[in-house]
Amino acid sequence: MTRDVVIIGAGQAGLTAAVSLRERGWTGGIHLIGDEAHDPYQRPPLSKGYLSGTESALDLLLRAPEALERDGITQHRGVRAEELDRSESVVRLSSGRSVTYTAVILATGSAPRRLTVPGSELGGIHSVRTIVDVDALRADLAHGGPTVFIGGGFLNLEVAVEAAKFGPVTVLERGSQILGRVLSPAAAAALAGYHAEKGVDIRCEARVVALTAASQCAAGPDSPHVPCVGGVTLADGSIVPAARVVLAIGAEPRDELARASGLETGGGVVVRGDLRTADERVYAIGDCARFPSTYAGTEMRVESVQNATDQARYVAGVIAARFSETGPFTEPRSEAQQRAPLTGASDVPAPYREVPWFWSTQGDRRLQIAGIAMPGDDARVLLDEPGGKLVVERLRAGEVVAVETINAPGPHMRARRALASYGL
Ligand SMILES: Cc1cc2nc3c(=O)[nH]c(=O)nc-3n(C[C@H](O)[C@H](O)[C@H](O)COP(=O)(O)OP(=O)(O)OC[C@H]3O[C@@H](n4cnc5c(N)ncnc54)[C@H](O)[C@@H]3O)c2cc1C
Repeated sequence: MTRDVVIIGAGQAGLTAAVSLRERGWTGGIHLIGDEAHDPYQRPPLSKGYLSGTESALDLLLRAPEALERDGITQHRGVRAEELDRSESVVRLSSGRSVTYTAVILATGSAPRRLTVPGSELGGIHSVRTIVDVDALRADLAHGGPTVFIGGGFLNLEVAVEAAKFGPVTVLERGSQILGRVLSPAAAAALAGYHAEKGVDIRCEARVVALTAASQCAAGPDSPHVPCVGGVTLADGSIVPAARVVLAIGAEPRDELARASGLETGGGVVVRGDLRTADERVYAIGDCARFPSTYAGTEMRVESVQNATDQARYVAGVIAARFSETGPFTEPRSEAQQRAPLTGASDVPAPYREVPWFWSTQGDRRLQIAGIAMPGDDARVLLDEPGGKLVVERLRAGEVVAVETINAPGPHMRARRALASYGL
């Protein structure tokens, strides 16, 4: 009997899972299915070096195609997984092919949330998720004119610093501070000050109610029938002129395949502590997975490279142990057995619990976060030096749960080690 792991999604998580399966001794087949036209690549440089032109598409490659071939990883590039048929243990592909699986890893990522206000269908509205998106944005920025960013999160702030080199830039944030869900007021204020120095006009409590059409398109219309955006209307009635809009108001998990196959979804593909769905042959990792986070003390999705790679390595280890020729799960088990909670029994691994960490580069400011803070957690500034160096501890019930640093890599690394040693 052939033993195949099918990985759906060839991004950071999917690619890492494929490579890690081999590293952990998986001798069966590995199918890596990705619907993008490019070989698996890193997304972080898209809003940084790739946008500014210091990194090329080649620099973004996660692994050369020849290396995948050498590892016996079958890549299905530009192919969509259209159905996960759990009753037949088969994944049906847009290429017309079907692949039978021993285990499936869902690594389908997330997609930019859409705006639903009037005018959202106009041309000249960009998101920043893929190489194709950034190629289009780069070409459009070169036409000059004002760029309006909707959403004051990491992504838009990274892109805004670069866009400010091409023309006036405004960032519209609905909340009372940028990065409100994820950062302390002190760190957010430090970054806001930096952006102001770079000519980025950040407006908080700015609620977008409509996008209006331009009489003429700066970059030529996306299609001859679609007029371009010319302005952004706010709830107070004011209009911010725009030659283009960059939209980053969060991302939605790509959990449609899991949902259609009858698996539990809701804010992501729901998995247990071992990143397994209710079906013991189906796992979910990376941006698309909603898992019980030891560090946050709640179920959540995390969108970061660390989360994608660490979950991929963890799941590769679990699958290699469970489904190898001598593993315990060679045959399907009863539903009751499958529903059993993690008990620490020999075939049940310790739950996933890597220390979360994240970085964001905005111009020459490098923000790093170790741990996970929630809105409402306390903040204590430990260091605030001229020139931008900042260290802020986040506390919950008096315990340090996260450390935010700007241009302070040493304290960041120490915080990661300390959080790991707490042994949550
Ligand atoms: C512009 C940008 C900058 C970022 N910067 C940072 C940063 O500085 N630091 C950081 O920690 N994180 C950053 N992130 C987040 C980080 O890149 C993501 O969390 C990470 O890429 C998630 O990996 P993933 O594999 O889960 O998802 P993805 O990388 O999105 O990969 C999922 C892939 O699956 C494909 N797919 C979906 N459904 C199907 C299907 N049915 N069939 C076939 N293929 C399918 C998708 O098209 C996609 O290619 C950034 C993200 C972006 C977009």
